[in-house]
Amino acid sequence: MQETILALNAVSAAYGSIQALSNISLKVPKGAIVALLGSNGAGKTTTLNVISRLVRQTSGTITYQGTDTARLSSDELVRTGLVQVPEGRQVFRDMTVLENLELGAYLRRDRSHIGRDLERVFHIFPRLQERNRQLASTLSGGEQQMLAIGRAIMSQPSVMLFDEPSMGLSPLLVQHMFRVIQELNRDHGMTILLVEQNVKLALGISSYAYILENGEISLEGPASDLAEDEAVRKAYLGI
Ligand code: ATP
Repeated sequence: MQETILALNAVSAAYGSIQALSNISLKVPKGAIVALLGSNGAGKTTTLNVISRLVRQTSGTITYQGTDTARLSSDELVRTGLVQVPEGRQVFRDMTVLENLELGAYLRRDRSHIGRDLERVFHIFPRLQERNRQLASTLSGGEQQMLAIGRAIMSQPSVMLFDEPSMGLSPLLVQHMFRVIQELNRDHGMTILLVEQNVKLALGISSYAYILENGEISLEGPASDLAEDEAVRKAYLGI
């Protein structure tokens, strides 16, 4: 059996009187790509935010590498290799591409391979190398998305939480983004929890998937089974 690197056990979360998550339990095996799917407002981003401790759960436990994360700050989590790639374009706009990437390395423990990892990011996203002296604010939306991912890679993660990496990208760039995620997993050993609206592509690269509806997990299973599931096909694949 594969070792579980990240587990949520009956986690609930609320924003004031709005119950955003109710008793979510999920497991991410080490080395896997796991998809978290669901319609708008289902609670996907909240799930990632409770994992990375940006939002505090009201009950339940989250275990990362066997440790209850309630003891850790967001920074400590990043230091131990759990990194969230934010939705959209949350880069430091007044800094250059290179400065943004260097900032990503700021919290890491092992500083000896920063140059190598910068090369890795430039290899994955050659566009970022071409523009490395340019201010982040002048990048296109797709390029800012690449920069946000590049910055996360620079922190040397073991687990990457992706929030809608394909959002706002052209169809060609969406394909590229999914290939990059697969490469990070396959070639660089990163475990990935992937929140996506693009259900077909997400199921195509994941081994297991969870579907959230109104803050609860309504369905889970091997991704290939969900891709064949009639209810999933109707609700999310338009078939
Ligand atoms: P989307 O795909 O549209 O991004 P999501 O599945 O990521 O949606 P969440 O962003 O996690 O959903 O939101 C879950 C619920 O919590 C929604 O009803 C949303 O309106 C509510 N919510 C999210 N953030 C806040 C907040 N900061 N304050 C109040 N309510 C919030």
